[in-house]
Amino acid sequence: MPPKKITPPLMDETIRSLLEKSANLNRCVLCGKCASVCLSFKHFKSEVFSPRGRMALFQSYSSGNLEPGEKFASSIMNCFACGACESVCPTPARPRLAGLLMRSAPPLSQHLAKLQKSLKAGNFPVGFFKAAGLKLSPAAASFIQPLAPLKHAEGILYFAGCLSDSFMPESIRAAWNLIQQFGYNPQLSSGVVCCGAPYLFAGLLADFCRIALANIKEFEKARPKTILCGCPSCAAVFKSYPDFFEKNSKEGKAALRLASRIAVFPDWLEKALPSKKALLSLENLNVIYDEPCSLKYGVCATKSPSRILKSLPSLHVEKWREDDCTPGLPLFLYGKSNNPIAQIQNAKLAQLKEKAVDVIVAEDSFSRAWWRIELMKRPSIKSRVSSLAELMMSCF
Ligand code: SF4
Ligand code: SF4
Repeated sequence: MPPKKITPPLMDETIRSLLEKSANLNRCVLCGKCASVCLSFKHFKSEVFSPRGRMALFQSYSSGNLEPGEKFASSIMNCFACGACESVCPTPARPRLAGLLMRSAPPLSQHLAKLQKSLKAGNFPVGFFKAAGLKLSPAAASFIQPLAPLKHAEGILYFAGCLSDSFMPESIRAAWNLIQQFGYNPQLSSGVVCCGAPYLFAGLLADFCRIALANIKEFEKARPKTILCGCPSCAAVFKSYPDFFEKNSKEGKAALRLASRIAVFPDWLEKALPSKKALLSLENLNVIYDEPCSLKYGVCATKSPSRILKSLPSLHVEKWREDDCTPGLPLFLYGKSNNPIAQIQNAKLAQLKEKAVDVIVAEDSFSRAWWRIELMKRPSIKSRVSSLAELMMSCF
């Protein structure tokens, strides 16, 4: 008897269409080239946790040949959205994007219900970080004054991100001062506070798109030449807005315009730095650069932070023994002690106890927040956590 066809339960047409047109689900030829770079597969050693396994599951699910169960949900939840798979895929298939879209499909709703409720009630990420011990600070807009409107299209608009804005404004102040040191007159993105990433990761696609549209509108009003993002994860999310709208629609075109203006702060800094390097007075410091996946792969991949740090002679820049990535946002969403990310982080914490590290440089704001929380719990570890801008400003 032929296997019974299952109608995918209420798979939203938007998700189906994005899976086909943006994530190119059916272009995956299941060659498996992506498996060797997938951290999730490396940890679980099982095909369903590989990008190919995920694409095969999504193809079966969307064509009605699979009834999703626990393993299906776990496979989606344990994708770190790093994008390594997409960087090696020989076809236009996008396993990372497909996984993010599948978070908003019905099989995942029960797994993400608590987080979704919390987000809708406005408790995440602010409530979460408050509960974890980070101190809520006055928003950056309140201490960076005056906030004159952009005068011309040559301006730099600095996007702080909700997490830095609420809890780590010192990183915004440092970036702000640094940009001014280089002779620019930046503006702050006071009208846009969140890129929408927490909503996308929590499976709230409609809310994410609503936030994206509001942000596109705000940025269109300001029309800066460059939107500098302090957090590379936010930059990657802004750059991915075109994936969520029809290419030829008004929204799709505006999303593309916005994406073309996005720049990651360390890339900008690396270009501007040579003219000011002589002014830096550096202490001898042992530094570890914690590189998140969001800076290793994908649309905002950059080696600028590590090149900048290595070019500063008084800094001794170390590497972790295991150079696995430290995903920022997924770390907070999984919350299980046995997940692969927690294991990587615990290994890094163990190494910190052995080394004399003065500063951990973390550019991704979620990674930086995680380090701050963990080091608060471990007063015996004397390392301090800093953004690149904070470290650089302390040298001027
Ligand atoms: S996602 Fe790309 S690399 Fe991975 S199995 Fe599919 S076609 Fe091959
Ligand atoms: S995005 Fe990263 S974790 Fe997810 S399937 Fe691709 S390589 Fe694996």
